[in-house]
Amino acid sequence: MRDSKGREIDYLRLSVTDRCNIRCIYCMPESGIPLVSHDDVLSVDETVQLSGIIMKAAGVRKVRITGGEPLVRKGLLDIVRGVSGHCPEELVLTTNGLLLCSMARQLAEVGIERVNISLDSLRDDRIRSIARRDVSLKDIEGAVVSAFEAGLDPVKVNCVVMRNINDDEIVEFIRWGGETGVTVRFIEHMPSMLSDDTFVSRDEIIESASVLGEIVRQNDEGTAGIYSVKDTGQTFGIIAPFSDPMCSSCSRIRLSALGILYSCLAEEEGVSLIELLRSDSGDEIIIELVRETVMRKPDSHSGCVRVKMWRIGG
Ligand code: SAM
Ligand code: SF4
Repeated sequence: MRDSKGREIDYLRLSVTDRCNIRCIYCMPESGIPLVSHDDVLSVDETVQLSGIIMKAAGVRKVRITGGEPLVRKGLLDIVRGVSGHCPEELVLTTNGLLLCSMARQLAEVGIERVNISLDSLRDDRIRSIARRDVSLKDIEGAVVSAFEAGLDPVKVNCVVMRNINDDEIVEFIRWGGETGVTVRFIEHMPSMLSDDTFVSRDEIIESASVLGEIVRQNDEGTAGIYSVKDTGQTFGIIAPFSDPMCSSCSRIRLSALGILYSCLAEEEGVSLIELLRSDSGDEIIIELVRETVMRKPDSHSGCVRVKMWRIGG
């Protein structure tokens, strides 16, 4: 459906858990997140049912499964199978990759078409200090290979660029993307518990990349601007929520694992649908609330993005 600004809202980001097996410095507190009671989380069947109602109400055509880390969610394959049964035109997933080797094939079998994998450095010591867990480049390269072998391609790798943490790796990342066959996408850091000085802008990313040659902008892909190195043809993406917000073409709504629907990443409150779903008051009232949520989607995030990404899925 179209929102009040005429934007077509057809993309649901479905967070299936707010738990994670690592603790990225820009996303989660080191001690983890406040525990919520199991009863407050949508069950597998409720997740499938509610996503189906939302998809029908808004006319959703694309679903991205996210988290927290979606691969730690018990019953994930049943969720994916159920959501796939609602026949989205695209069903994709974002993961940190750590459990992908053992799950890629099964995910493809139940309906996942593509994956995005997060990786913020190519150096093991940095990967470990960003993830605050024992993760290595080999683990993520293994995930990339598994994704290709399972047919979950094209594979995109997302890298949050942070000043004095990994911003000297842009060129290396673009080269690594060429070698491994993935599309690397650099993400501007959104305010988190890290200092605001961590922010590196799109233009700074382009400037770093220009060591490889002249950088030319290609067509946009969703929220990512796509760029290429003119002489070599190597491509990479930049997701720039601040330098290039793309709010005017945003097509997303988000459902958290707690059953809260958000119309924007910057929205603090959202509308809770879990009780209505459990109260058996019928789909109509939920459909109405979904449509109201879409209609009040803000024009833009106005730079007020300081959200719990592990809750609503980045
Ligand atoms: N756990 C999965 C993963 O890391 O890919 C999926 C959920 S994670 C919240 C989704 C995306 O949000 C990841 O690519 C992550 O790098 C990004 N993200 C999290 N916090 C961010 C922040 N403060 N700024 C920019 N991107 C962020
Ligand atoms: Fe976990 Fe993804 Fe957040 Fe990293 S970005 S802590 S992998 S949810």
